[in-house]
Amino acid sequence: MKAMNKKIAVIRGDGIGPEIINQTLNILDKIAEKYGHVFSYSDVDMGGIAIDRWGEPLPDKMLDICKESDSVLLGAVGGEKWNSVPGHLRPEKGLLKLRAGMGAYSNNRPAKIWPQLASASPLRKEIVDKGIDFIIVRELIGGVYFGEHRSETVNGTRYASDLMIYSEKEIERICRIGFETARKRRKTLCSVEKSNVLDSSRLWKKVVHEIASDYPDVMLSDMLVDNCAMQIVKDPSQFDVIVTENMFGDILSDEASMITGSIGMIPSSSLGDGTKGVYEPIHGSAPDIAGRDLANPIGTILSAAMMLKYSFGMIDEADSIENAVSDYLDAGYRTADIMPRTDEERKNCIFVGCSECGKLIADLIK
Ligand code: NAD
Repeated sequence: MKAMNKKIAVIRGDGIGPEIINQTLNILDKIAEKYGHVFSYSDVDMGGIAIDRWGEPLPDKMLDICKESDSVLLGAVGGEKWNSVPGHLRPEKGLLKLRAGMGAYSNNRPAKIWPQLASASPLRKEIVDKGIDFIIVRELIGGVYFGEHRSETVNGTRYASDLMIYSEKEIERICRIGFETARKRRKTLCSVEKSNVLDSSRLWKKVVHEIASDYPDVMLSDMLVDNCAMQIVKDPSQFDVIVTENMFGDILSDEASMITGSIGMIPSSSLGDGTKGVYEPIHGSAPDIAGRDLANPIGTILSAAMMLKYSFGMIDEADSIENAVSDYLDAGYRTADIMPRTDEERKNCIFVGCSECGKLIADLIK
């Protein structure tokens, strides 16, 4: 591939965000050096840090930097310090504004177990041995997170409501991504909703079946979200691609991350109709370990690999990063979150912190 210039908006955010992003940028620099690309980074304040500096979680001028870039790399936002600010100013509102502003309606979260980490899964060995390799395609800019939020007091009693609303167009475009994703994999799509209770889910189910005839090569099934939560721990090998709405996808993807070993390992991409995307690990700002060099940066590093592959078309470069992560795990290096549970297994592992982990992976890029 010929050398390219790419502009990347970098959001370090709060908590462990700066630590994991710094390691990831070192790795991107290594890739740039090896393949002759130029990556230029623009810092963007979002989350708590933006509230402190600018009085709001994502000022328009910061969003503009993201829109003008070729893609966005994001650490994580949020923390105790900003938990008491009014709802519309919460750090997470910055995230929602970013996703909506970038038109990134499709969130892609792989749940794949690294063979080296099989013993870190909380599931029984016989379940893990059947294989865990599926993708959750989550609708990202609609549903209850974006519907009207109301709080009021009537006759001395406090009420609050959040509106879950979807149009057929919003459902159709994300379900098409689900079908297309399944087409590139094992051609099995599971649509997850709550159609026994919710009207928005009944519309979801109708629409996904209406468009299914355009994808005769993909086998479509339906599953209620509560059953899906159960099946993910009972027999995750049954899933190939899951497509679901925003909140269900948020919850199920955290569950899926845990069965693969650690939330710190899972990357994600969020894309709209073009090639620009937002790339971030699926975890939050982990305030409990922030500033202690304990975070696992691999979810962010693998998010950068996804950015190279899906937004920049740099397949070899992305593979280089993934191979380096695999070599790092093969060598037995482990951050605290993926340390095996038994003393016996731990004997073959070397404990490392966040910065050491990033340095080792950068050194392993061949
Ligand atoms: P969290 O994902 O931050 O942490 C959950 C647990 O996982 C913690 O024990 C944490 O130490 C651990 N963990 C997370 N990432 C890790 C990593 N890379 N390496 C090692 N361990 C890791 O979720 P939470 O505690 O519910 O939320 C903390 C803050 O993050 C809150 O303010 C929340 O709103 C915010 N949040 C932000 C995002 C985002 O920025 N995309 C997503 C979720 C939560």
